[in-house]
Amino acid sequence: MPSDSALRIVWIYPDLLSTYGDQGNVLVLEQRAQRRGILTETIHVRSADPIPETGDIYLIGGGEDRPQILAAQRLRRDGGLHRAIARGAAMLAVCAGYQIMGSTFGGEEGQPVDGIGLLDISSSRGPARAVGELVAEVDAALNLPALTGFENHMGVTHLGPGVRPLSKTIKGVGNGDGFEGCYAGHVVGTYLHGPALARNPALADLLLSWRVGQLAPLDDSRYEALRKERLATVLQG
Ligand code: GLN
Repeated sequence: MPSDSALRIVWIYPDLLSTYGDQGNVLVLEQRAQRRGILTETIHVRSADPIPETGDIYLIGGGEDRPQILAAQRLRRDGGLHRAIARGAAMLAVCAGYQIMGSTFGGEEGQPVDGIGLLDISSSRGPARAVGELVAEVDAALNLPALTGFENHMGVTHLGPGVRPLSKTIKGVGNGDGFEGCYAGHVVGTYLHGPALARNPALADLLLSWRVGQLAPLDDSRYEALRKERLATVLQG
């Protein structure tokens, strides 16, 4: 039974949005919390079900155009995600999930589709599909090492004044304007798959710390070695 004090991780619409192993983001958060003795409870919310409002960290993944449109409609009708974020919850939104958080995004034929307006961004179809490895330097205010991941999207994303770019692209396309992702308060949007939190454990820790405060350090030497290898390969390639 979940205890009241467990960290509640909410995985939104696994039946619609979970490409390229984005569900791994849930596993990484669970594992990094549990390795520090923090109890977790994970709630998988299918698209027919209401979004719980008392979660701590909400995760949403990438997807094809049609399920993305359905997910946006259902989230808008539900309204629970807005209320959860207003209560102080954190969120990581990936690719299609990231675009949905904005005011609008490009549908199957490039037509504008309404997002849910949780982030001050808007997306549309770009000139070409962005596919491949991405490396980006994170906004200094967040104090994180470089982000690495895999991107595959048609959309480009324009950031409004209500958000800050998450990072500056060194390799890859990201938002399409030299930056990748965005953040506002405790909400992070990104084009990164990989899954993003497996490739970037420091980003997982940032989300955790926003809810539980200062975190005990973990021995990440094995993951760090893999990260170094991957970064070196991508940057040389
Ligand atoms: N359908 C969106 C796009 O192509 C998102 C794709 C994804 O989530 N991988 O831009």
